[in-house]
Amino acid sequence: MNTVLLTAERCLMSDYNGSLFLGFTACAPRSLFKPFLYFRLICPPVPVENGSAKIAPYGTRKIEATLLENGFKENEVKIVPPEKIRKSITEDTRVVGITTNDPLGLGPASTTFSGDKGLVKEESFNVWKFRELLDSLKDTNVKIVVGGPGAWQLEDRNIRKKLGIDVVVIGEGEAVVSDLFKKIVAGEEVPEVVYGEPVEPERIPTIRGASVGGIVEIARGCGRGCRFCMPTMRKFRQIPLEKILEEIKVNCKNGKKFINFHAEDVLRYGARGFEVNKEAVLKLFTAGLNFADSLGLSHFSLASAASSPDTIRGISELLEIPNSEHPWIAGQTGIETGSTRLIENYMPGKAKPFSPQEWCEVVETAFGVCSDNSWVPCATLVIGFPGETEYDVRKTVELVENLREYKSLIVPLFFVPSGPLRSQKGFSAEEMKSYHWELMLECWNHDIHWLRPLAEEYLRKSPVLSRKLLMRFVEWVITKANRRVHEFIKEQIEVEKWR
Ligand code: SF4
Repeated sequence: MNTVLLTAERCLMSDYNGSLFLGFTACAPRSLFKPFLYFRLICPPVPVENGSAKIAPYGTRKIEATLLENGFKENEVKIVPPEKIRKSITEDTRVVGITTNDPLGLGPASTTFSGDKGLVKEESFNVWKFRELLDSLKDTNVKIVVGGPGAWQLEDRNIRKKLGIDVVVIGEGEAVVSDLFKKIVAGEEVPEVVYGEPVEPERIPTIRGASVGGIVEIARGCGRGCRFCMPTMRKFRQIPLEKILEEIKVNCKNGKKFINFHAEDVLRYGARGFEVNKEAVLKLFTAGLNFADSLGLSHFSLASAASSPDTIRGISELLEIPNSEHPWIAGQTGIETGSTRLIENYMPGKAKPFSPQEWCEVVETAFGVCSDNSWVPCATLVIGFPGETEYDVRKTVELVENLREYKSLIVPLFFVPSGPLRSQKGFSAEEMKSYHWELMLECWNHDIHWLRPLAEEYLRKSPVLSRKLLMRFVEWVITKANRRVHEFIKEQIEVEKWR
């Protein structure tokens, strides 16, 4: 019947050949790769069976499960890839729900590398594909509802009207989408903006099909309280182990046997407060291995890693890392700054159980622990905090210098106002001072140092054509682009010094 069709922006509807970190390329300017090659070899579409996507973004799976648990029938709800959405709309279809991470390119990565404020003044792949998806739905009679982590960018009514969006759901969807969709199906009036509050773990339903990257959520929210973070991160909730295992089983049954645990800090599973509970974390990984072939993780915090090296070691031992298939465990993490002044001002909870003054030591210790146990941190920094001084940036440069010996990636991102700092001004490429460029150069040199070995190891299992394309790109970056980037940044430093 297809009463409710769910889909996602095209860059989210890909498993990136099992190399999920390549998902970051969605924030890159769209001329970085030829679209034909990019969407075939790097970001291929998800497989489809009987018109339904066999793999779907985790958030879309949660909305599907919520609807099915709250009165919708199996034949009324269908997840389809964006390129098939138009043809899937029937006369019974009342609503199309779209998941998006970064619809206008206002997230930190897109803001830094692409778009009006970014280093390359061109829209990113994800912005392009979101617009294209909405354009494809413009002359239909269905209601368009958009949700997902990037939905906050669509709060402005004029933007929604221009794009053809009827309703935006901001925040967690589980408590609000079933009523909303029922009203739309019944032809009732609904608000244009719906806010979803944090949902208790028992109200979070179990997904019904495989998720992109074999993602399984183990905790939601964070609770460290950084002042630039989304409000939904404020409340930390843990998912009970039985629920996690159910989702692992669903994924494995549907062919995803490599599971990625998702939380803002996987190492805090089972913790009370900010002290890592090693037993609970290892129990989680041991239980997961009863069903999955292997396990990975999305994010971890440097403070947790520094405070519990035994937990890191225990996970590597359980997963037998390094091995021929998985040379290391990669996880996203936040350094944000080397300035303890900024840590104290904007993110005092970031260093817990340590103090803000110990932050640089925490970061260096954590990188050392990771290196000793075959973990690769993919770390972000923030440039342009309100009130940031040259001294703050120089402290960050110093910290990055000290991390050179550790296999890792460090990506500087522009400050984007959100959470309690929402009314502050965001940062843009035009505001870069010579010391910002120096920090950029330090990060670039760090990444170039590690890029080839990381790419060779990470892409080992990718399909031959995709691997060849990406390795050619990596070689081009290391040889040609590296020289140009050095020349460009040095020029910018000189120009800025004379201003
Ligand atoms: S540690 Fe990360 S997720 Fe947690 S509040 Fe801070 S920025 Fe947000």
